[in-house]
Amino acid sequence: MIKGKLIVFSAPSGSGKTTIVRHLLGIEKLNLEFSISATSREKRGEEVDGEDYYFLSLKEFKDKIKADEFLEWEEVYRDNFYGTLKSEVERIWAKGKHVIFDIDVVGGLDIKRIYPERTLSVFVKPPSIEELKIRLKKRSTESEDKINMRVAKASIELATAPQFDFIIENNNLDIALKEAEELAHNFLKKRI
Ligand code: 5GP
Repeated sequence: MIKGKLIVFSAPSGSGKTTIVRHLLGIEKLNLEFSISATSREKRGEEVDGEDYYFLSLKEFKDKIKADEFLEWEEVYRDNFYGTLKSEVERIWAKGKHVIFDIDVVGGLDIKRIYPERTLSVFVKPPSIEELKIRLKKRSTESEDKINMRVAKASIELATAPQFDFIIENNNLDIALKEAEELAHNFLKKRI
């Protein structure tokens, strides 16, 4: 199979990486397709199975770990597993497209380790932990407890930023989008 490239966006949740990833997906010439992760967490709000995530039961998820079906997986929060199925990357490459990921920092760095030449890893940095908390509250899809859990995790994640190929500081969304576009464009035109 002809392999494409991989672009990973990782960041604490609430830092705006999903907006950036959606923006890049809308640029046709980049020829990107979103890697749909599998997860054992519950569906939120308007999420659709097979679009936002492949929603699996805890047992189904663990069975797939045993069967070595994941490129990377992680227990991001307790009993909430997330992972990239090998079949997902192959599905996108088979269409002649490049893969774009919106995943957690550990998963992002794993992908980079597995495909060092083929992967561009980008960390999206929120302006501050305080701002992150405000954004998560505005999104208001989760309880106070869950938000606090995400904020605590964010502080740890921020420390991994220097391990990524690039860091985008999301203080101004328009600038962040332009930066992301340029990084993706330059990386995809490069020969490996
Ligand atoms: P959420 O529950 O907000 O959709 O995602 C929680 C966290 O899991 C986010 O940081 C998200 O990036 C991460 N995540 C989503 N998919 C994957 C994946 O396939 N692998 C890993 N390692 N993390 C993921």
